[in-house]
Amino acid sequence: MTAPAGALFNAGWYRFARRLDSPNFGPRPAGACIDLLVVHSISLPPGRYGGDEVQRLFTNTLNWDAHPYFQGIRGLEVSSHFYIRRDGTLWQFVSCDARAWHAGASQWRGRGNCNDDSIGIELEGLEGDAFEDAQYDTLASLSAALQQQYPVRHIAGHEHIAPGRKRDPGPGFDWPRLARSLGLADTALPS
Ligand SMILES: [Zn+2]
Repeated sequence: MTAPAGALFNAGWYRFARRLDSPNFGPRPAGACIDLLVVHSISLPPGRYGGDEVQRLFTNTLNWDAHPYFQGIRGLEVSSHFYIRRDGTLWQFVSCDARAWHAGASQWRGRGNCNDDSIGIELEGLEGDAFEDAQYDTLASLSAALQQQYPVRHIAGHEHIAPGRKRDPGPGFDWPRLARSLGLADTALPS
C-alpha cells in the first residue's frame, strides 16, 4: 500500500525522520488505542553526546566492551520509536503502528504495559540536564504530527509511568514549554 503524496506517515513511518530499523519490536495488541506519548532521555555513556551509541543500542550493534558502563546493560534489547539528537535531528527505529520496547513495567491513565499503546520518544540527554531549543522544536512538530495521525490524548515522561524505577527525562525537561507549543493547557501534561 502506498501512502498518498505528502502524507506525514507511511505505514507508521514519519516522513521527516531518518529511518533506521530496529529488530526490537512486536505487534501491538489487537484494537490498541495509541493515545499516549512517552518522553524519555538517553545518552551512552550517560552524559556523553554526539556519538552513535544509542542508535547502536537500538539496533543490537553496540560494542558492550567499549565502555565500562555498557557492562551493566550488556545484552539489553530495547528500542524507541523516535530519537531526537541535541541538534534536533530526528531518527525513527520502529513503525508507530508496531510495539516498541521503551517503557518496561509501567502504568498510566489507568492502564498498564504502556508499550502496548504508546509511542516512545527519546531525547538525547541526561536526567537533570537541560535540553536544547532544537530538541523542543523537533519534539513539538513531531508531537503535532502524531496528534494528527493517532488519537493522542496523553503525554507523560518515563518517570511518570514508572515512578521509583525511572527518572527520565527528569527535572531539566520543560513540560509547560511542550504544552504551550502544542496549544495544551499545562494541566494536560504532568508537572
Ligand atoms: Zn526512559
